[in-house]
Amino acid sequence: MDINHLTMTIKEQKSIALIAHDGKKQDMLNWCETNKEILKKHKLCGTGTTARVITDRVGIPVKGYNSGPLGGDQQIGAKIVEGKIDMIIFFSDPLAAQPHDPDVKALLRIAQVYDIPIANNIATADFLIHSSYMDKEYVHEIENFKNTVKNRAETVV
Ligand code: PGA
Repeated sequence: MDINHLTMTIKEQKSIALIAHDGKKQDMLNWCETNKEILKKHKLCGTGTTARVITDRVGIPVKGYNSGPLGGDQQIGAKIVEGKIDMIIFFSDPLAAQPHDPDVKALLRIAQVYDIPIANNIATADFLIHSSYMDKEYVHEIENFKNTVKNRAETVV
């Protein structure tokens, strides 16, 4: 490993964020019902309304952040930065304009920066949830931000 990267470990028990736009909430409920036994083994969180409907209708506890349009996607993005979210299932609606589109883009970007697995449709979510990595640790490398900040501070002005 070079000094510009940090080794991070996604543990056996994952912290999974669940998010669904309104047009995809039924799909999310169906997917959670189908995969309930697997999901139960992990720590779940989600944007406010998504978390509430999964908890109420599927019967698995999902910690809720704010509703997406009120900053929930940004809260989840911040948790990624803190290293507290390992995976995202995000059923976005490609056929409906979202008032918080910039927040959605920001979440996708920060997941990419931190090399967080993210599924944005059912097929990808199925492939992820049945991956052999779901039952074991996964070690990956992300940018060493301390080093990046140090280098930038020395060179940017
Ligand atoms: P919600 O937010 O779960 O509160 O509906 C989801 C989103 O629109 O990002």
